[in-house]
Amino acid sequence: YIVAENVCKSFGTNQVLKDVSTHFNTGEVTVIIGASGSGKSTLLRAINRLEPHDSGTIRIGGVPVTDDPRTLQQQRCEVGMVFQQFNLFGHMNALDNVALAPRRLRHLARAQANEQAMTLLRRVGMQDHAQKYPWQLSGGQQQRVAIARALAMAPKVMLFDEPTSALDPEMVQEVLDVMRELARGGMTMIVVTHEMGFAREVADRVLFFDKGRIAHDAPPAEFFNNPGNDRIRAFIGRMG
Ligand code: ATP
Ligand code: MG
Repeated sequence: YIVAENVCKSFGTNQVLKDVSTHFNTGEVTVIIGASGSGKSTLLRAINRLEPHDSGTIRIGGVPVTDDPRTLQQQRCEVGMVFQQFNLFGHMNALDNVALAPRRLRHLARAQANEQAMTLLRRVGMQDHAQKYPWQLSGGQQQRVAIARALAMAPKVMLFDEPTSALDPEMVQEVLDVMRELARGGMTMIVVTHEMGFAREVADRVLFFDKGRIAHDAPPAEFFNNPGNDRIRAFIGRMG
């Protein structure tokens, strides 16, 4: 569904993506792992055009990602993103955080947007916290609201950039459980994470980034049993 062809990106003299070519199929969960600075976030941000790439092509459902505002708006509805720092709107309660974009961008009436938001909050187990503000919620709860907020635009693909890295350990599972449910429901997902258990259990494919290139691409069973080279083996060893 998403296809990258020879994508390059530099920040000054620092070449961060070096001719990256890959694809993400409908209904598949792809986990991306790799060392800090290897370009994982930059690829996700390029897919969403939060960061324009320098050359090569990224297509979403056949349509190239460019700066054309109409196409970009359409593509950002199709591609939801969840960040390490959940970035909820601090002055809005959970329900309003989830209902805002559908009201603004899809012009839903308040009642309808709220009803849909409640359904999504139920899906992430946050229905009893709808009226709470972000500061009244734990990190794991905030991240679950952030996932509901991303789902509110009915995306076809969900991008997750280290969604559990900022969480206290006891809150990691509740967020991974929500993601696991999403995957079970057939959502196309690209997940940057250090959670090797999640990769083993949920991923259809695991990509290993090394200095701006995809150094390995395999289903999890193969990836973890036969890591391709010693750098990858060492990395997996460090991550547990
Ligand atoms: P991490 O695991 O730490 O999140 P990453 O694989 O996500 O790392 P990126 O965030 O994609 O890595 O960054 C890749 C490289 O690009 C790094 O060297 C980083 O310093 C650099 N970089 C990223 N964003 C910018 C920016 N806006 N301006 C300049 N350099 C940047
Ligand atoms: Mg990153």
